[in-house]
Amino acid sequence: MSEPAKETAPLEPMPEDWTRALAVVAHPDDLEYGCAAAVAAWTDAGREVTYVLATRGEAGIDTLEPAKCGPLREQEQRASAAVVGVDTVEFLDHRDGVIEYGTALRRDIAAAIRRHRPELVVTLNHRDTWGGVYWNTPDHVAVGRATLDAAGDAGNRWIFPELTEQGLEPWNGVKWVAVAGSVRPTHAVDATPGLERSVRSLLEHRTYIEVLTDEDPETYCRTFLTGNAQAAADRFGGRPAVPFELFSR
Ligand SMILES: [Zn+2]
Repeated sequence: MSEPAKETAPLEPMPEDWTRALAVVAHPDDLEYGCAAAVAAWTDAGREVTYVLATRGEAGIDTLEPAKCGPLREQEQRASAAVVGVDTVEFLDHRDGVIEYGTALRRDIAAAIRRHRPELVVTLNHRDTWGGVYWNTPDHVAVGRATLDAAGDAGNRWIFPELTEQGLEPWNGVKWVAVAGSVRPTHAVDATPGLERSVRSLLEHRTYIEVLTDEDPETYCRTFLTGNAQAAADRFGGRPAVPFELFSR
């Protein structure tokens, strides 16, 4: 069986006619591994970015029980967001590791979209694999898919009428959903201005990283993020980049 052809088409620059983005992911650290350098560039340009996490990542550290792990990772996530200019971080309190794709998740994400009224929604890889090599986790798949779906749900007053009753009016203003970490990127953001802050942002997840690797945490974060950004450069005019698969609405 032959390998799929390597995609070489140039990545387009991301659209710039927007002011508010909402990033929705499953766990603390998903955005820091995925796209924090892009977030730094956006907040530098005066755009407002808000983070919504489906869980507190409480099942992420083998040696730390969930009741202790959740609050710690929440704290690390807030510090991590602040490094790239994000002040608002919300948690939907789904259960880490067993997030279910379904109407409850879609409703919670649609509610967040109605609260924050973004033009751009960002999420993490909803497809089966990372780069066709590593199997993705069910949490990422569930939250990614539910976020793509909720971008539409948020605009329809009849899908979750209880949200309107709670005072959350429909928001039909989402123009794009950008998926970070996708195997099929179409667009990109120049990673250079935000790269150093993305390293510091990932480093804020220190408890998690110290368990994950024996390497020096800073070296680990810098090597990982620089390598990823460099890997996208050959499709972005030689510039290190944060790639996204962009869906228009
Ligand atoms: Zn994750």
